[in-house]
Amino acid sequence: MPTPLIAGNWKMNGSRALVDDFGRAFGDAELPENVAVALMVPFPYLDAASRAFEGTPLALGAQTLSDRPSGAFTGEVSGEMLRDCGARMVLVGHSERRTLFGEDDDAVLARVRAALDLGLAPVLCLGETLEERDAGRTEAVVLGQLEAVFDALGADERARLVLAYEPVWAIGTGRTATPAQAQAVHGAIRARLARYDAGLAADTQVLYGGSMKAANAAELLAQPDIDGGLIGGASLNVDEFLAICQSAG
Ligand code: 13P
Repeated sequence: MPTPLIAGNWKMNGSRALVDDFGRAFGDAELPENVAVALMVPFPYLDAASRAFEGTPLALGAQTLSDRPSGAFTGEVSGEMLRDCGARMVLVGHSERRTLFGEDDDAVLARVRAALDLGLAPVLCLGETLEERDAGRTEAVVLGQLEAVFDALGADERARLVLAYEPVWAIGTGRTATPAQAQAVHGAIRARLARYDAGLAADTQVLYGGSMKAANAAELLAQPDIDGGLIGGASLNVDEFLAICQSAG
């Protein structure tokens, strides 16, 4: 079983002060030994966070990256810049990027490649909308998003990804997938990974995201194919996020 990973995604929230609060709290916290923790902060806070999180178990991540290495792309941020500011991982293909910023499977793949080229661990997000679920297309959509990236990568590259299943209808809605609903999709993802390679299926961390909070984390994390969480709203409160990290041990 992969090491459980609890990752917070602040989205376009947070502040310098909150970065410092998390650094202090995680510097003092006693976490279960076998749990990895990470926080994906907005670009402007990366540098401060890399200093605030030094000596704490918190790994640093970003929420997206450009698919280009450098150049005349006003407003974009490259993977090299993320690494330069201390990030070790980066979300790719979050549903908000896919739907609000028009990132299709090709754009997601290009960003995964850019991250891998720079030694950043891509956290590839997958998830269906409510309409797609109601139409019985959940597995087709989620596995299609997975294959669009994994079919294009080599075996060594596939092994460096983290996956996050985030049903779009559960994001920010307070409506969590039931443990059984989440497990069913996680099981399908694991089975698809096994068709690439049995070792890949055994070792890849597949996180659940979508209204995960302290009150429901333990039952979700107890599912056999859920290896951690990607937490939005509840990652903005340090005590709540710490409680989720504790329940992953
Ligand atoms: P919420 O936890 O706020 O539902 O967000 C989930 C998410 O999108 C994490 O990336």
